Amino acid sequence: MNHTAPPVEEDPIQCQRCGLCCQVHLALLTRPDDLERWRNQQRDDILRTVETETQVTNGMGDSALTGPCPYLERQGAVWHCSIYDTRPLVCAKFQPGDSLCSQARRGIDTP
Ligand code: SF4
Ligand code: SF4
Repeated sequence: MNHTAPPVEEDPIQCQRCGLCCQVHLALLTRPDDLERWRNQQRDDILRTVETETQVTNGMGDSALTGPCPYLERQGAVWHCSIYDTRPLVCAKFQPGDSLCSQARRGIDTP
């Protein structure tokens, strides 16, 4: 009988920086508060991207992409957000290891 301990499972809350959550449906999900912040920060570049590349998702002024986020950038073996300091609030609240992270990593599109 083999008494070897099973391999330690990957920490479910440790972000692997795989970038998959930023490549799924509803990436760059933007809310009116984000638009206001970017106006105040004079981030016309981001505002232009949102205006031209995202689609309205509901009647609350939210919009999102249907594909990979243009602000996702590769850094060697990992990915990072090139607008990290002012990324959308939804992105900032995203928790590595939560159900959406798991879905993205399993290749299931988020709703
Ligand atoms: S803004 Fe940044 S964190 Fe949000 S989807 Fe794009 S790359 Fe990911
Ligand atoms: S899918 Fe999960 S592990 Fe991968 S970058 Fe996003 S939060 Fe991190």
